[in-house]
Amino acid sequence: MQILVVEDEIPLANALKKILEQQGYFVDCVHDGLSAIDYVKAVSYNLIILDVMLPKLDGFEVIRLLRKDGLNTPVLMLTARTATNDKVFALNSGADDYMTKPFDAAELVARVGALTRRRGEVMVNSIRCEDLELDLQSAMLRCGEEQVQLSRKEFEVLRTFLANPTMTIPTETLLINGWGLDSEATDNNVEVYVSFIRKKLKYLNSVISIKKIQKIGYRLEIREQ
Ligand code: CA
Repeated sequence: MQILVVEDEIPLANALKKILEQQGYFVDCVHDGLSAIDYVKAVSYNLIILDVMLPKLDGFEVIRLLRKDGLNTPVLMLTARTATNDKVFALNSGADDYMTKPFDAAELVARVGALTRRRGEVMVNSIRCEDLELDLQSAMLRCGEEQVQLSRKEFEVLRTFLANPTMTIPTETLLINGWGLDSEATDNNVEVYVSFIRKKLKYLNSVISIKKIQKIGYRLEIREQ
């Protein structure tokens, strides 16, 4: 199950990612409202955790635009504000639930569980993209009759690409997803793991390859058959 965390306070975004990953969710983090819109358009999330005070576009505006586009993914709004007016405004604007910061991890997990169960979604066991299938439990990557085992970091990096197959993924996003926000890993670490994944894709003879986009990040390329 995939969750998008939209939170500009980096330590809090990191903490949310950790808590939710311990519960078996897959988590992408973005730090401003415009990126949230881009991610939601590209990826099918089971839940969006949305801060109210955000750079570029605030949380109320993000949810208004998403609901206007017909998106019915559950949204849990997070805010430091405690005013009742804000709570009413959040729920009226299309949020499904609301939590004020600081919050308790156990309460967050319970609310996330309730919101993701409410829609009767089935746990996603694998991500498919073109000729690839990535097993989310075993980190086994399959292509036709062949399969290879991915390491933990290879898995996190490739999962990010396969979940966002049409997007250029910023190197920073791959660093966050693979190594965590507080890690000292650099762009070189990403480069090394992308090269490991490229070798595996080549071994599998997949139509998918990973292209570097200078100064931005990487994106998937699909070979015409
Ligand atoms: Ca904020």
